[in-house]
Amino acid sequence: MKVLVPVKRVIDYNVKVRVKADQTGVELANVKMSMNPFDEIAVEEAIRMKEAGKAAEVVAVSVGPAQAQETIRTALAMGADRGIHVLHDGEVEPLAVAKMLKALVEKEQPGIVILGKQAIDDDCNQTGQMLSALLGWSQATFASKVEIGDGELTVTREVDGGLETVKVKTPAIVTTDLRLNEPRYASLPNIMKAKKKPIDQSTPAELGVDPAPRLATLKVTEPPKRQGGVKVADVAELVSKLKNEAKVI
Ligand code: AMP
Repeated sequence: MKVLVPVKRVIDYNVKVRVKADQTGVELANVKMSMNPFDEIAVEEAIRMKEAGKAAEVVAVSVGPAQAQETIRTALAMGADRGIHVLHDGEVEPLAVAKMLKALVEKEQPGIVILGKQAIDDDCNQTGQMLSALLGWSQATFASKVEIGDGELTVTREVDGGLETVKVKTPAIVTTDLRLNEPRYASLPNIMKAKKKPIDQSTPAELGVDPAPRLATLKVTEPPKRQGGVKVADVAELVSKLKNEAKVI
């Protein structure tokens, strides 16, 4: 069974994101970019499936600019077998990505597609669900445990206040939650080996998809600045401030 893992190049999660002065988006110039953290978890899970003898091949796919190849190389260095790069400059929305992934799924015929539950740049949490609908496949989202059975997956999902365990038939879509696994670091020898692994090139047009956005971003704003705290002398002063200034008691 083949496993397809879509990986997105996003602003590194350690970067303090700055909003552009004209409020049209966030500053991307000279900003460190990395693989979306939930996608690292997806790559790790796919590699573990291969190591356990349950998957034959792991294919990493990225839709993005030329630099998205680096993201695919990271997946290859972690242990994915090959990559597919769909070259597209500029923003691409979940529906367009899902349509491109659908075209690739039809070509590659994977048994499982594992995506991140959300990309940390757009926070959409849509691509996996849309892909599942477009393909008519089962989906198990927010997975914290995945067990592969015969023609089915048993997936534990993180839901508000607890866990839910579901069974889905394969082929299926899985999206990863934070506690599914701890992704490995690529070793130096594996980074070197990854340079020789193949990355196929494609374009949205070749996959029959129009990537033009359907949404217009009207405005992006910073969250309100946090105000500094104050030290109080005693409990009486704290109570007085909570009552008269914060007005919360
Ligand atoms: P989103 O729906 O944008 O929050 O993204 C959810 C997941 O879809 C991500 O974690 C990736 O696995 C996948 N995905 C989204 N955009 C892309 C992209 N441009 N290239 C590859 N995978 C993507």
